[in-house]
Amino acid sequence: MTLPAETDTVVVGSGPAGCALAGRLAAAGADVVLLEAGPDLGPRDSGRWDAGLLDASALSTSYDWGYSSEATYPDRVVAFERARVLGGCSSHNGCAAIRGARADYDGWRQPGWATEDLVPLFEQAERAFRVHRYTAEEVTPFHAACLEAAQAAGIPLTADLNDLDEHEAIGIAPVNIDGGVRFNAAFAFLDRDYASLRVIGDAAVGRVLLEGSRAVGVALADGRELRAARVVLAAGTYESPAILQRSGIGPADLLAAAGIACVHDRPGVGANLHDHPAFVVGFAGGPELERRHAERTGWTPEEQSIAKLRSSHCTEAFDLHLYPLGGPHPRRRDAWRWELPVACMTPRSRGTVAVASADPAARPRIDHAYLSDEHDLDVLADGVELMREIAARMPLLGEELGPRASGAGLRKAIRRGVVHYYHPGGTCAMGPVVGADAAVHGLEALYVADCSIMPAIPRANTNVPAAVIGLKVASLLGRLDADDASLAAFGEGHHAR
Ligand SMILES: Cc1cc2nc3c(=O)[nH]c(=O)nc-3n(C[C@H](O)[C@H](O)[C@H](O)COP(=O)(O)OP(=O)(O)OC[C@H]3O[C@@H](n4cnc5c(N)ncnc54)[C@H](O)[C@@H]3O)c2cc1C
Repeated sequence: MTLPAETDTVVVGSGPAGCALAGRLAAAGADVVLLEAGPDLGPRDSGRWDAGLLDASALSTSYDWGYSSEATYPDRVVAFERARVLGGCSSHNGCAAIRGARADYDGWRQPGWATEDLVPLFEQAERAFRVHRYTAEEVTPFHAACLEAAQAAGIPLTADLNDLDEHEAIGIAPVNIDGGVRFNAAFAFLDRDYASLRVIGDAAVGRVLLEGSRAVGVALADGRELRAARVVLAAGTYESPAILQRSGIGPADLLAAAGIACVHDRPGVGANLHDHPAFVVGFAGGPELERRHAERTGWTPEEQSIAKLRSSHCTEAFDLHLYPLGGPHPRRRDAWRWELPVACMTPRSRGTVAVASADPAARPRIDHAYLSDEHDLDVLADGVELMREIAARMPLLGEELGPRASGAGLRKAIRRGVVHYYHPGGTCAMGPVVGADAAVHGLEALYVADCSIMPAIPRANTNVPAAVIGLKVASLLGRLDADDASLAAFGEGHHAR
């Protein structure tokens, strides 16, 4: 589709937040252009979605931004996966559909964003994503063993991991998977014939066009321009702050160092970067576990069970996820992978996203500063010991492959091996950067709506929460009620686009 000259609302980025926002506004009749840097692969049955993006049994990497992790990890390479394709990361992610805890959203202390305000939007987003629970027969032998072992270790079994008030439990995660297909945000929110919605792929935005303090459109990296009555950035936690910075909106010293004229000094843009730091412990399999898995026919997802655990440092709700991964090795033939990773769900370490120039082709510098706050290391070290209590009750599992240390040795191993849980957020936070109406402070007609506006990421995987942000900001911009009838058909898979 060719780029129009102007529109009412331009949404930049088609991740779960951008799709939910654009879909909901368009469903209510608003004129919307959704720009996506990656390709628009069309509706679900277009034939253009590759098998890896559709197959929900394992993560895909076929469309990735290729962000460098060098600033975070000077001595090793850890992929900071971010999808560059219609649907954003919902098109290659793990499909766990998780809400978190009441304390998360209430803790944001933003008017209109408390848990009670958001629950109806979670329900809408989950309906659109076709979220459902596996049947008992679908649970793999590995995950069945995890459920049993956790209960033997004293962790209660829950039928609903999304109970916002239940704080220690193991259960099978609800998922947005439809017949083995990753039911991404584009399928959930865009796959419909909205006359007023134009989706344009291969349209990377370089910067926001400003006249005085008002946003009047966007300039694409290839030089094309689109005028708009309002601009909403939904380009994700790494790219939304980068677009603002390239537009001269950000910390004055950072802009000066990058050679960008400062239009609006806003120190919070690109600050407050955080994710759930994680540590992965692998185990040898056992002949019986492998036999039971080898005997399974059909589709076998590697992720199913999640435990919400409390470390000795936990002050409210829970502060750990244990998210077992098990089954055929995704990259090695005739090999298995059995892992019991733990993640700190209440991170206090904060990093930064910073552009080094105005060049839209250059990737921003991403420094996650993992474990810069000792609290996160304390929680992870406790988490590994709690995980071991569960693993010790899994007779089907072989021995721990490493680090096998406790105390100082374990802490050292965690520092060396810390990874992420794929949930970055916080870089255009409500409070310092945008208001509770998602508008950038001090400027007009410019909004941000994605995981970057989370003041603190929830104790949850962030796909559905991102879509909830999109729905919430759509309701604010479009003055729509939470039970607006235009939402009823989301996710039905009609696709005349
Ligand atoms: C490998 C992986 C596994 C994950 N597993 C899970 C899971 O199981 N459950 C879960 O809940 N969450 C999971 N997540 C996290 C979840 O997918 C993300 O939190 C969520 O997608 C973030 O949504 P978003 O809308 O904020 O941004 P994104 O999903 O990052 O979307 C941003 C979009 O904007 C586009 N864009 C960026 N810059 C520009 C630009 N300049 N111009 C135009 N377009 C641009 C991008 O290409 C992208 O399509 C996973 C993430 C990854 C990477």
